[in-house]
Amino acid sequence: MEHLENLRALNDADRWIERVIAQRDHLPELGELATLETELRSLLAALHEAQHAAEPLRQAYFSAQESARKLSVRVKDLEGALASSTGSGRELGAMHHELEQVRERVAAAEDEELNCLVALEPLDETIAAIKERAQPGVERRTQLQGEITQLRATLDEEILALRESRAALAQGLDPQWRQRYDAALTRAGISGAAYVDAGRCDGCRIALSPLDLDRFRHLEAGVVMDCPECGRMLLP
Ligand SMILES: [Zn+2]
Repeated sequence: MEHLENLRALNDADRWIERVIAQRDHLPELGELATLETELRSLLAALHEAQHAAEPLRQAYFSAQESARKLSVRVKDLEGALASSTGSGRELGAMHHELEQVRERVAAAEDEELNCLVALEPLDETIAAIKERAQPGVERRTQLQGEITQLRATLDEEILALRESRAALAQGLDPQWRQRYDAALTRAGISGAAYVDAGRCDGCRIALSPLDLDRFRHLEAGVVMDCPECGRMLLP
Protein backbone atom coordinates (compact mmCIF):
# COMPACT_ATOMS: atom_id res chain seq x y z
CA MET A 1 0.00 0.00 0.00
CA GLU A 2 2.86 2.35 -0.76
CA HIS A 3 0.62 4.52 -2.94
CA LEU A 4 -1.66 5.22 0.03
CA GLU A 5 1.27 6.36 2.13
CA ASN A 6 2.53 8.54 -0.71
CA LEU A 7 -0.93 9.99 -1.26
CA ARG A 8 -1.20 10.84 2.43
CA ALA A 9 2.21 12.51 2.38
CA LEU A 10 1.30 14.51 -0.72
CA ASN A 11 -2.07 15.50 0.71
CA ASP A 12 -0.50 16.59 4.00
CA ALA A 13 2.12 18.58 2.09
CA ASP A 14 -0.58 20.41 0.09
CA ARG A 15 -2.55 21.19 3.21
CA TRP A 16 0.57 22.43 4.95
CA ILE A 17 1.40 24.73 2.03
CA GLU A 18 -2.15 26.10 2.15
CA ARG A 19 -1.83 26.78 5.88
CA VAL A 20 1.41 28.71 5.43
CA ILE A 21 -0.10 30.71 2.54
CA ALA A 22 -3.10 31.57 4.76
CA GLN A 23 -0.72 32.56 7.53
CA ARG A 24 1.21 34.82 5.14
CA ASP A 25 -1.98 36.45 3.81
CA HIS A 26 -3.65 36.93 7.21
CA LEU A 27 -0.85 38.16 9.40
CA PRO A 28 -2.24 39.87 12.52
CA GLU A 29 0.14 42.72 11.68
CA LEU A 30 -1.85 43.31 8.46
CA GLY A 31 -5.04 43.82 10.47
CA GLU A 32 -3.31 46.20 12.84
CA LEU A 33 -1.83 48.12 9.90
CA ALA A 34 -5.24 48.47 8.21
CA THR A 35 -6.82 49.81 11.42
CA LEU A 36 -3.91 52.17 11.95
CA GLU A 37 -4.08 53.47 8.39
CA THR A 38 -7.80 54.22 8.74
CA GLU A 39 -7.03 56.13 11.94
CA LEU A 40 -4.16 58.05 10.33
CA ARG A 41 -6.31 58.93 7.32
CA SER A 42 -9.01 60.42 9.54
CA LEU A 43 -6.38 62.37 11.50
CA LEU A 44 -5.01 63.68 8.22
CA ALA A 45 -8.49 64.77 7.14
CA ALA A 46 -8.95 66.59 10.47
CA LEU A 47 -5.53 68.20 10.03
CA HIS A 48 -6.40 69.44 6.53
CA GLU A 49 -9.67 70.82 7.80
CA ALA A 50 -7.99 72.76 10.62
CA GLN A 51 -5.24 74.00 8.28
CA HIS A 52 -7.85 75.05 5.74
CA ALA A 53 -9.73 77.04 8.40
CA ALA A 54 -6.49 78.62 9.69
CA GLU A 55 -5.13 79.64 6.30
CA PRO A 56 -7.29 82.75 5.59
CA LEU A 57 -6.78 83.92 9.20
CA ARG A 58 -3.04 83.56 8.83
CA GLN A 59 -3.10 85.51 5.58
CA ALA A 60 -5.18 88.24 7.25
CA TYR A 61 -2.74 88.33 10.17
CA PHE A 62 0.28 88.79 7.92
CA SER A 63 -1.42 91.43 5.82
CA ALA A 64 -2.50 93.38 8.95
CA GLN A 65 1.04 93.11 10.27
CA GLU A 66 2.42 94.43 7.00
CA SER A 67 -0.08 97.33 6.96
CA ALA A 68 0.80 98.25 10.55
CA ARG A 69 4.49 98.21 9.66
CA LYS A 70 4.07 100.46 6.59
CA LEU A 71 1.78 102.88 8.44
CA SER A 72 4.23 103.11 11.34
CA VAL A 73 6.92 104.16 8.89
CA ARG A 74 4.57 106.85 7.63
CA VAL A 75 3.93 108.00 11.22
CA LYS A 76 7.67 108.34 11.82
CA ASP A 77 8.10 110.29 8.56
CA LEU A 78 5.29 112.65 9.45
CA GLU A 79 6.59 113.15 12.97
CA GLY A 80 10.06 113.90 11.58
CA ALA A 81 8.63 116.31 9.01
CA LEU A 82 6.58 118.08 11.66
CA ALA A 83 9.54 118.41 14.00
CA SER A 84 11.69 120.07 11.37
CA SER A 85 8.93 121.90 9.53
CA THR A 86 9.09 125.59 8.87
CA GLY A 87 5.97 125.61 6.75
CA SER A 88 2.84 127.67 7.18
CA GLY A 89 0.26 127.06 9.87
CA ARG A 90 -2.07 125.63 7.27
CA GLU A 91 0.51 123.12 6.05
CA LEU A 92 1.32 122.11 9.62
CA GLY A 93 -2.38 121.69 10.33
CA ALA A 94 -2.78 119.40 7.33
CA MET A 95 0.23 117.33 8.47
CA HIS A 96 -1.16 117.06 11.98
CA HIS A 97 -4.45 115.94 10.58
CA GLU A 98 -2.81 113.26 8.43
CA LEU A 99 -0.66 112.10 11.35
CA GLU A 100 -3.76 111.64 13.44
CA GLN A 101 -5.46 109.65 10.71
CA VAL A 102 -2.43 107.44 10.09
CA ARG A 103 -2.10 106.77 13.83
CA GLU A 104 -5.73 105.65 13.88
CA ARG A 105 -5.08 103.34 10.97
CA VAL A 106 -2.01 101.88 12.76
CA ALA A 107 -4.17 101.17 15.79
CA ALA A 108 -6.85 99.54 13.61
CA ALA A 109 -4.27 97.36 11.85
CA GLU A 110 -2.79 96.29 15.19
CA ASP A 111 -6.26 95.44 16.49
CA GLU A 112 -6.82 93.32 13.40
CA GLU A 113 -3.45 91.60 13.99
CA LEU A 114 -4.49 90.74 17.53
CA ASN A 115 -7.97 89.56 16.51
CA CYS A 116 -6.42 87.21 13.98
CA LEU A 117 -3.95 85.87 16.54
CA VAL A 118 -6.74 85.20 19.02
CA ALA A 119 -8.82 83.41 16.38
CA LEU A 120 -5.81 81.41 15.22
CA GLU A 121 -4.84 80.17 18.66
CA PRO A 122 -7.43 77.37 19.05
CA LEU A 123 -6.88 76.27 15.45
CA ASP A 124 -3.13 76.11 15.94
CA GLU A 125 -3.69 74.16 19.14
CA THR A 126 -5.89 71.72 17.23
CA ILE A 127 -3.27 71.36 14.51
CA ALA A 128 -0.54 70.72 17.07
CA ALA A 129 -2.73 68.20 18.94
CA ILE A 130 -3.51 66.26 15.74
CA LYS A 131 0.18 66.12 14.83
CA GLU A 132 1.04 64.92 18.32
CA ARG A 133 -1.60 62.19 18.13
CA ALA A 134 -0.46 61.08 14.67
CA GLN A 135 3.23 60.92 15.57
CA PRO A 136 3.27 57.53 17.38
CA GLY A 137 0.89 56.11 14.75
CA VAL A 138 3.22 57.10 11.94
CA GLU A 139 6.13 55.47 13.78
CA ARG A 140 4.13 52.30 14.44
CA ARG A 141 3.13 52.18 10.77
CA THR A 142 6.76 52.21 9.63
CA GLN A 143 7.55 49.52 12.21
CA LEU A 144 4.62 47.35 11.07
CA GLN A 145 5.49 47.73 7.40
CA GLY A 146 9.01 46.53 8.16
CA GLU A 147 7.74 43.60 10.23
CA ILE A 148 5.27 42.57 7.52
CA THR A 149 7.93 42.66 4.81
CA GLN A 150 10.23 40.52 6.93
CA LEU A 151 7.54 38.00 7.95
CA ARG A 152 6.34 37.67 4.37
CA ALA A 153 9.85 37.08 3.09
CA THR A 154 10.36 34.33 5.69
CA LEU A 155 7.01 32.69 4.89
CA ASP A 156 7.61 32.97 1.14
CA GLU A 157 10.90 31.15 1.63
CA GLU A 158 9.11 28.48 3.65
CA ILE A 159 6.44 28.09 0.97
CA LEU A 160 9.12 27.73 -1.68
CA ALA A 161 10.87 24.99 0.31
CA LEU A 162 7.55 23.21 0.97
CA ARG A 163 6.69 23.33 -2.73
CA GLU A 164 10.05 21.77 -3.56
CA SER A 165 9.51 18.87 -1.19
CA ARG A 166 5.92 18.57 -2.42
CA ALA A 167 7.23 18.24 -5.99
CA ALA A 168 9.57 15.47 -4.83
CA LEU A 169 6.65 13.66 -3.17
CA ALA A 170 4.57 13.95 -6.35
CA GLN A 171 7.49 12.53 -8.34
CA GLY A 172 7.57 9.52 -6.02
CA LEU A 173 3.90 8.72 -6.70
CA ASP A 174 2.85 6.32 -9.41
CA PRO A 175 1.73 8.44 -12.46
CA GLN A 176 -1.73 6.90 -12.50
CA TRP A 177 -2.38 7.90 -8.88
CA ARG A 178 -0.72 11.23 -9.37
CA GLN A 179 -3.02 12.07 -12.27
CA ARG A 180 -6.07 11.14 -10.25
CA TYR A 181 -4.86 13.19 -7.29
CA ASP A 182 -4.02 16.22 -9.47
CA ALA A 183 -7.39 16.08 -11.23
CA ALA A 184 -9.16 16.11 -7.84
CA LEU A 185 -6.89 18.91 -6.65
CA THR A 186 -7.72 21.02 -9.71
CA ARG A 187 -11.43 20.43 -9.17
CA ALA A 188 -11.58 20.93 -5.40
CA GLY A 189 -8.58 23.19 -4.67
CA ILE A 190 -6.22 23.14 -1.64
CA SER A 191 -5.70 19.34 -1.70
CA GLY A 192 -6.65 16.42 -3.92
CA ALA A 193 -7.48 14.04 -1.09
CA ALA A 194 -9.22 14.08 2.28
CA TYR A 195 -9.80 11.92 5.33
CA VAL A 196 -13.08 10.74 6.78
CA ASP A 197 -13.56 12.21 10.23
CA ALA A 198 -16.67 11.30 12.25
CA GLY A 199 -18.50 10.34 9.07
CA ARG A 200 -17.57 13.58 7.28
CA CYS A 201 -15.16 14.28 4.46
CA ASP A 202 -12.65 16.63 6.13
CA GLY A 203 -12.05 18.35 2.79
CA CYS A 204 -15.55 19.70 2.20
CA ARG A 205 -16.92 18.96 5.72
CA ILE A 206 -20.02 17.32 4.28
CA ALA A 207 -21.28 14.12 5.89
CA LEU A 208 -21.22 11.00 3.81
CA SER A 209 -24.55 9.24 3.34
CA PRO A 210 -24.86 6.00 5.35
CA LEU A 211 -24.53 4.12 2.09
CA ASP A 212 -21.31 5.91 1.05
CA LEU A 213 -19.91 5.58 4.54
CA ASP A 214 -20.59 1.87 4.44
CA ARG A 215 -18.95 1.63 1.04
CA PHE A 216 -15.91 3.53 2.33
CA ARG A 217 -15.55 1.21 5.29
CA HIS A 218 -15.67 -1.92 3.21
CA LEU A 219 -13.40 -0.94 0.33
CA GLU A 220 -10.94 -3.50 -0.89
CA ALA A 221 -7.46 -2.87 0.47
CA GLY A 222 -5.64 -0.26 -1.60
CA VAL A 223 -8.76 0.91 -3.45
CA VAL A 224 -9.68 4.59 -3.03
CA MET A 225 -13.13 6.12 -3.51
CA ASP A 226 -13.85 9.79 -4.19
CA CYS A 227 -15.92 12.04 -1.96
CA PRO A 228 -19.30 12.26 -3.71
CA GLU A 229 -19.49 15.97 -2.84
CA CYS A 230 -16.08 17.49 -3.51
CA GLY A 231 -14.47 14.74 -5.56
CA ARG A 232 -11.38 14.49 -3.33
CA MET A 233 -9.94 11.02 -2.91
CA LEU A 234 -11.00 9.67 0.46
CA LEU A 235 -7.90 8.18 2.07
CA PRO A 236 -8.24 5.44 4.64
ZN1 LIG B 1 -15.53 16.09 0.30
